Amino acid sequence: MKAAAIVEYKQPLVIQDMPDPEPGPGDAIIRTEACGVCRTDWHLWQHEWTWIGMELNLPRVPGHEFGGEIVECGKEVTRFKRGDRVTVPFHLGCGKCEECWNGRYNLCFAYGAIGVHHDGGYGELVRVPSADSTLVRLPEGVDGFTAAALGCRFMTAYHGVVDRAAVRPGEWVAVFGIGGVGLSVVQIASAIGARVIAVSRSDEKLAMAREEGAEATVKAGPNAPAEITEITKGGAAVTVDALGASTTTIPAILSLARAGRHVQLGMTGIEDAGKIAIPMDLVVVKEIRIAGSLGCPMTSYAGMLAMVASGKLKPARLVEAAVNITEVNGVLTAMTGFQTRGFHVITSWQAAAV
Ligand SMILES: [Zn+2]
Ligand SMILES: [Zn+2]
Repeated sequence: MKAAAIVEYKQPLVIQDMPDPEPGPGDAIIRTEACGVCRTDWHLWQHEWTWIGMELNLPRVPGHEFGGEIVECGKEVTRFKRGDRVTVPFHLGCGKCEECWNGRYNLCFAYGAIGVHHDGGYGELVRVPSADSTLVRLPEGVDGFTAAALGCRFMTAYHGVVDRAAVRPGEWVAVFGIGGVGLSVVQIASAIGARVIAVSRSDEKLAMAREEGAEATVKAGPNAPAEITEITKGGAAVTVDALGASTTTIPAILSLARAGRHVQLGMTGIEDAGKIAIPMDLVVVKEIRIAGSLGCPMTSYAGMLAMVASGKLKPARLVEAAVNITEVNGVLTAMTGFQTRGFHVITSWQAAAV
């Protein structure tokens, strides 16, 4: 099979022929129809996130946002069979630990993440460990391309908005950082009836947020919390940091109403290296709740996929371009300068150079 692999940090991915993966007893082999190129891949390629144990064993084939068809199953797999069309949350549920038993598959760290600890969807074929407790069947009307557009950004946004923030219709939701995750949050929160304010330093991204349903937009900067407080007449009920930086987390918390909820979706980059100074006294006197949100447990996919199948949610709208595997280095380089506007999805391995 053809695959693009990180062989050396910060160096172009190498596009090469690799042996087809073989399934272990609980594994499934997926033929990738489409795979998203994600800022997570960029962070890993830059050798960041080592502070939370995300060290790659190079060479590594990245890619944790894909959908496709099962071509082979190990003999212990019971819920899936060859020919099933599936998507793969980046978090692998072992199915045997307390988190998995409680439905928190996204918090099972037993097998790590696909594309990080196991080769992922930048390859034409992917071995998915622990298939029965990881794979999600795609309903009619949701193709592999749409599945790639779902995750991790869209599915992370869904879990954050619906499960962690429990956003209700009519609530003000201010979204900081309008990249792929932020646009997903805008679309999902709008679809469930929230009033959304998008915050970005880019006019172009604010215009895109309006197209996804944002009612108001605010330019990022020192005045953003005051502007949001003015628009909402007292502060947002929910703020979402979709980027993960002190320049987004802190103004987000400053923009909350009393009893507001802040959801942290973005993880930090090298500037903050995992630590952000939070206005903690404000958290106390306003009874603010801060919730982290990671991925999306399998148990929440049914609701999300039903909204996608019925057309209420449209993750594929957020795809900027479908690309060939040979183009991934160009996409990752563009991410360095924040020049990508939406998702890029790999849909072809055929013309790959060797
Ligand atoms: Zn588990
Ligand atoms: Zn991702």
